[in-house]
Amino acid sequence: MSSEIRVANKAFRAFLLGIEDVLGKHGVEAVLHRANLPQYIGNYPPSTMERGEHSIRYFSRIARAMYDIYGGRGARAIMQRVGRSQAEIGLQENAALVALARLGMKLLPLRQQVKIALEAAVKAINEQIGSEAEIIEEGEFFYYQARNCSYCIDWQSDTPVCFAVIGFLHRLLQNITGGTEKIEEVMCRAKGDAVCRYRITLNP
Ligand SMILES: [Zn+2]
Repeated sequence: MSSEIRVANKAFRAFLLGIEDVLGKHGVEAVLHRANLPQYIGNYPPSTMERGEHSIRYFSRIARAMYDIYGGRGARAIMQRVGRSQAEIGLQENAALVALARLGMKLLPLRQQVKIALEAAVKAINEQIGSEAEIIEEGEFFYYQARNCSYCIDWQSDTPVCFAVIGFLHRLLQNITGGTEKIEEVMCRAKGDAVCRYRITLNP
């Protein structure tokens, strides 16, 4: 039932724009045809918080279409870049907030800054997409964990498939860490795990 969630216009828009960033207009077109979502070709939702007809399942449908077209390795590289673009768009949309936060955060230890950025991103993701994500701090690690991850719904695979999250988290933390952190997917619902889980190591 929870997978029937409709996502906010701006979240689905950022995903489609992210794909266009990486693959160009023709690339998005091919992927949307393959995903059987041709209604979105040249017709992205507006940048608003309203919920249109975009099911949370469309994320995984599109991700799988990319897998079919570009193969596992190609899709992995592309989706990581798409996630990066999604974060970039999110940061641009909230430029004023980000600048303000950075001003106040500069005095905090790096670890604290990372935690604040992760918590803020999770809040936006949960509000806009409904991923049921949370940040867990355990020893030296941070974990991003999603019970209703949008990228792997109805997908079975021997290996993790939610590559966009890795690119997203890297871009999100880049301004703070300079990109030095390490991010690994340690659990994925496509593999039969109960959640999708990413381990973030600072200064590995
Ligand atoms: Zn997932």
